[in-house]
Amino acid sequence: MTGPHPPDPAQTDTLTLLGTGDSKGVPRFWCACPVCTEARGLDGRPGVNRRTRTATLLRSGARSALLDAGPDTHAGLARLPGPLVPDAVFISHAHNDHLLGLGDLLDYVRYADGRLRVYAPPEVVPQIAARFPYAFPAGGAGPVRPIPPQGVPVGEVTVRAFRVPHGANGHSHAYRLDRPARAGGEGWSAAVVTDAIGIPPELARTWLRGPGGAGLDTLLLGTSFEDESGAPLSGRSVYDVREALTLPWAQAAGQVVLTHLSHGVDVRRAGHLPPGWQYAHDDLTVPLAAATRPSAALAAGRPARPQQEP
Ligand SMILES: [Zn+2]
Ligand SMILES: [Zn+2]
Repeated sequence: MTGPHPPDPAQTDTLTLLGTGDSKGVPRFWCACPVCTEARGLDGRPGVNRRTRTATLLRSGARSALLDAGPDTHAGLARLPGPLVPDAVFISHAHNDHLLGLGDLLDYVRYADGRLRVYAPPEVVPQIAARFPYAFPAGGAGPVRPIPPQGVPVGEVTVRAFRVPHGANGHSHAYRLDRPARAGGEGWSAAVVTDAIGIPPELARTWLRGPGGAGLDTLLLGTSFEDESGAPLSGRSVYDVREALTLPWAQAAGQVVLTHLSHGVDVRRAGHLPPGWQYAHDDLTVPLAAATRPSAALAAGRPARPQQEP
């Protein structure tokens, strides 16, 4: 079924999830659990649970940006059908599974004479400098710029970052993506929240709602395990699937993709996810568009559009 406005390929915004694993990747190299065993695959073919560390490619028309650059970023970019230098790279927080890919990217910045723009929240910039001191000349500005409060444009999309609680790990940042409605094109809003737990309602009201208080059109949400209720809350750092299903701002989103998945999630068992929700896998491409919710579609007298590719 197609909607009344077939997408113009040049206008299409997407997220490609190059890496969808938690900090240790799947399989854990030391682990023989059923998920890790399936992930290793058969006859050289990886299993469906094989997941690398976080890196997400945003595309808007001819423009692109990486949202985080985990240690497997090089492999993820190498799987693309052709060469791609993103226009910008954003780093959410200074955890290895989100920034070690900067090793390759900062080398490229030097090689390409600064052509690749790297951004991080202001408080994260010095943490990156401490991790990659060779790339930050003494007294110089360094290759990583603070994300300005008003955000950074990537094609038609504005990328902003906001601070979120990261449980036992302190805090992280999440990304807010917005494309304004313009003549001939619908706007949409999305958030990429990979490393968070216990987001307070007032923060969610500000950052995890669309214009007018409606739900986000698209939410990428990190859920490392299916159910961590057996672990003390004080030791946890990311939502689990059980909690995600109860979050009002997740329930209100048009489509939800659960990512940052450890070996505690078997993507072959997704039957309990409600309509519009799915588990991520490496290289999954998610369209960014205005979600058509059944009630809104009925009110407007038009058929609901499918929210993801078949
Ligand atoms: Zn992480
Ligand atoms: Zn983290």
